[in-house]
Amino acid sequence: MIGVSACLIGENCTYSGKNNLVLGLKRLYELGEVVCVCPEVMGGLSTPRNPAEIQSVEPLLITTNQQVDVTKEYLEGAKKAMSIFIAHDVKVAILKFRSPSCGCDGIYDGTFSHTLIDGQGVFAKMCEEHGIKVFHEKQIEEFLKYIGKEDEYGTYFKDSTSI
Ligand code: SF4
Repeated sequence: MIGVSACLIGENCTYSGKNNLVLGLKRLYELGEVVCVCPEVMGGLSTPRNPAEIQSVEPLLITTNQQVDVTKEYLEGAKKAMSIFIAHDVKVAILKFRSPSCGCDGIYDGTFSHTLIDGQGVFAKMCEEHGIKVFHEKQIEEFLKYIGKEDEYGTYFKDSTSI
């Protein structure tokens, strides 16, 4: 199975109560090829919720823009989401760009000023530690190449990558 951030298949689970739908991923979900998770909701956080950013990696500290420590919820949610990926034998995942949970290729710097720095979200890091190859939604071509399904799945992503 392919692991995917739930907001990318259209679930309204982002901090603002919206989604980040990528139509091609939703089609794969409808075909039964995808298992989706939202680590933040699984950690017990409500939707909508205050945005949070990683303040420090070692030791891990994640706070909301109201300075509430949500590290425990992020870690719990990541562990629960990981157990679902493991149960479904997920070896490759597409996770949401820049999220403090799902971001695999850069995160915000903790100042809530949209400043990007190198780093990974808590769940994306956990995925890589478990040997899961992680892409984000702007790397669909690379992802399709990696799984060798450019011809079979490529058309699902042709009309529009996201809305
Ligand atoms: Fe999307 Fe991941 Fe954030 Fe949930 S935790 S809203 S799946 S990016």
